[in-house]
Amino acid sequence: MKTLTIDNLHVSIEEKEILRGISLQVKQGEVHALMGPNGSGKSTLASTLMGHPRYEVTEGTMQLGDVRLNKLGPDKRAKEGIFLSFQYPSEISGVSLQNFLRTAYNNLKREKGKPVPVLEFRKILEEKMKLLGMNPLLAKRSVNEGFSGGEKKRSEILQLAIIEPTIAILDETDSGLDVDALKAVAQGINALRGPEIGIVLITHYSRILKYITPDHVHILVGGKIVRSGGAELAHQIEETGYEGI
Ligand code: ADP
Ligand code: MG
Repeated sequence: MKTLTIDNLHVSIEEKEILRGISLQVKQGEVHALMGPNGSGKSTLASTLMGHPRYEVTEGTMQLGDVRLNKLGPDKRAKEGIFLSFQYPSEISGVSLQNFLRTAYNNLKREKGKPVPVLEFRKILEEKMKLLGMNPLLAKRSVNEGFSGGEKKRSEILQLAIIEPTIAILDETDSGLDVDALKAVAQGINALRGPEIGIVLITHYSRILKYITPDHVHILVGGKIVRSGGAELAHQIEETGYEGI
């Protein structure tokens, strides 16, 4: 079992300190909800964990198992087992979702020089799409191009299902979804939940937590975790808002 260990993490953007000493441990098999008002630093933490060069770590460490992540680029972190789904997924014209996913699969799940045979991958893809209740035709279309909000978020969850990371960071996977799309995305995440994966579910609103019960909830305000607790903390937020914390 691996643990993502974040210890006293301080992060700045253009000399401005955004994260002010975050410490957090996420084990494989656990679901952590990270909640907080807009601008509290949730996406900054997500991007920093993935190794976005814009975010400068001025103090503290990030580690997955025995491997220190601080100096690794995003590709190396992905190989180590970190996955980030974006708040705003990009469209990639002219690259089909299935080719995109097969390339990601080959890069992350296969030894060098041994790509997965196309037919074998098609089976894997079909199985995962079925598990997530997705229309198989979506895989033939360009990545996210013309996808609805719900389809974009589900294509992120499909990526997650194919790549099977050790730690998945889902940044506002629930934002902008209507109730049906939200339920579908939540169902997808629940279907992937298991002992092999640790999930950091970043959300502003507690509504997705009606469908996904987290093991731990953390409240981020002003770049610091101000409270941690169990699932009940999310319900409390729903009643009192972040001001009540
Ligand atoms: P959240 O995801 O919780 O809404 P963010 O991490 O996006 O918060 O933002 C935290 C703070 O960092 C905000 O004040 C925001 O303006 C600032 N910030 C985030 N990304 C950038 C960036 N790329 N350049 C400049 N400021 C940024
Ligand atoms: Mg954000």
